[in-house]
Amino acid sequence: MGPTVVIGAGLGGLAAAMRLAAAGRDVTVVEARDVPGGCCGTARLGEYRFDTGPSVLTMPGVLADAFAAAGEDLESWLPLRRLDPYYRLRYHDGSHLDVVAGEDAMAEEVRRLCGAAEAGRYRRFRARLAELFAAEWDAFIDRDMTRLRNLARPAALTRLARLAALGGFRRLDRLVAGHLTDPRLIRAHTFQALYVGLSPRQALGIYAVIAHMDTVGGVYFPRHGGMHAIPQAMAAVAEKAGARLRYGVRAVRVEAGSSGVSGVRLDTGERLAARDVVVACDLPYAHAGLLPRGAGDWRLRRPRYSPSCLVLHFGLDRRLPGQAHHTLHFGREWHSSFADLARGRPQGDPNLLVTYPESDSGAAPAGHATLTVLEPAPNLQRARWDGLTPRLEERLLGRLADLGYGDLSGAPRLGFDPPGWAGLGHSAGTPFALDHRFRQTAWFRPAGAARRVPGLHFAGMYTAPGVGVPPVLISGRLAAERILEARR
Ligand SMILES: Cc1cc2nc3c(=O)[nH]c(=O)nc-3n(C[C@H](O)[C@H](O)[C@H](O)COP(=O)(O)OP(=O)(O)OC[C@H]3O[C@@H](n4cnc5c(N)ncnc54)[C@H](O)[C@@H]3O)c2cc1C
Repeated sequence: MGPTVVIGAGLGGLAAAMRLAAAGRDVTVVEARDVPGGCCGTARLGEYRFDTGPSVLTMPGVLADAFAAAGEDLESWLPLRRLDPYYRLRYHDGSHLDVVAGEDAMAEEVRRLCGAAEAGRYRRFRARLAELFAAEWDAFIDRDMTRLRNLARPAALTRLARLAALGGFRRLDRLVAGHLTDPRLIRAHTFQALYVGLSPRQALGIYAVIAHMDTVGGVYFPRHGGMHAIPQAMAAVAEKAGARLRYGVRAVRVEAGSSGVSGVRLDTGERLAARDVVVACDLPYAHAGLLPRGAGDWRLRRPRYSPSCLVLHFGLDRRLPGQAHHTLHFGREWHSSFADLARGRPQGDPNLLVTYPESDSGAAPAGHATLTVLEPAPNLQRARWDGLTPRLEERLLGRLADLGYGDLSGAPRLGFDPPGWAGLGHSAGTPFALDHRFRQTAWFRPAGAARRVPGLHFAGMYTAPGVGVPPVLISGRLAAERILEARR
């Protein structure tokens, strides 16, 4: 049992470090930035504080599991609040749907918007979502997909057959439209395709489980400190369990010999001896110089990246009474807006995600508030970005004014665009890694361990199960379990 080095204190790396340290391993985490969290970061602008990544937490049980593995109770470190509504969906025709907790309350919302017959169909669809989730979670999401040969095992084939019978291998839009008829309700259950970097026409029906996770499972937010409180608490738990966290240092080379991993060279010139390494950072960059010979993965030969996003964070000198934490403003266009992204163009009529974290009381001075708007945007693999940001920002300000947020052109603001994401170390200028097309899903996503370099493991959004807070926490757990089982 030699030392372990974790490269990257994003949520994936931290999840691995917490578990390994709690199991008695000698763990060092090296993080290039000055704070933990990676995408789940934080930024300040004057008296305003913003979460620069995820704005809500789904599947809090996965996070609780990471704390429990370190002998800690999530609730005492990080009390969470369930949001109500989970989302507010606003349509171009002026109507809206609140996604609320509980089947009866949600069916009533659907009845109000779409009528009694659709509410009945919604109940049946919700039951199908639960079946899909049950068929997928243990078998495909919460499971190590590193060994491709496991795909051919009879148990895996039986589970795949079950998923196929539930419609998991149909296209998402067809699966949902097979149950629901109102286009607004269909949008409410297919926009999540964007979370896996695809359009509802491209994504497989298996990704309907995302709708189950957030519209049924609910969305949560820390009671104090915003989303960035999550990595802060995880880093504190890892340190309490004995891990060393080193910020502001970059790993530049993983060294390996004939018996596998031997150490990690840092940009300070220092060398950390290591028997195991968890690489929990951007994998295409890692393969371009950080990793030793023999670490190549055929799955990364022709990477297809998710779309990126333009994000504007505003400091408001007022509050917005009645505004939900999360509001999705759908544009008039639907399929063409996804096609625009695929062709490398900004969406003609963008769908916007507006976050108003009113319950994060420390984020703004009394009587003030913060507002964040995210517009999906093409990544740099698809688009030449030159000069696009000012034009898109101007259009976004106009759109926000039309939507009733007032003139925000004079408000203090902070922006992140695809070149900015690239500057933060995200390949192709997207913080959402590879998309989840079939050939980048499950066993076909970059492997969790290098077959030819013993002791070299991977975690984070480039590996299975994929992008998003719960998946990267799972990837960290899987990496830690592989190391603990291997007894190198
Ligand atoms: C704007 C935005 C909104 C999002 N919204 C949601 C949401 O609502 N729900 C959801 O579930 N998910 C959301 N996500 C996605 C989610 O945040 C990510 O999938 C997840 O946090 C990625 O974690 P990670 O550990 O894989 O990678 P990262 O967070 O990228 O962490 C990698 C870390 O490695 C460090 N690093 C890189 N190279 C080196 C090196 N050589 N040496 C040392 N350190 C290095 C980096 O600095 C970084 O801290 C969002 C992301 C963004 C950006």
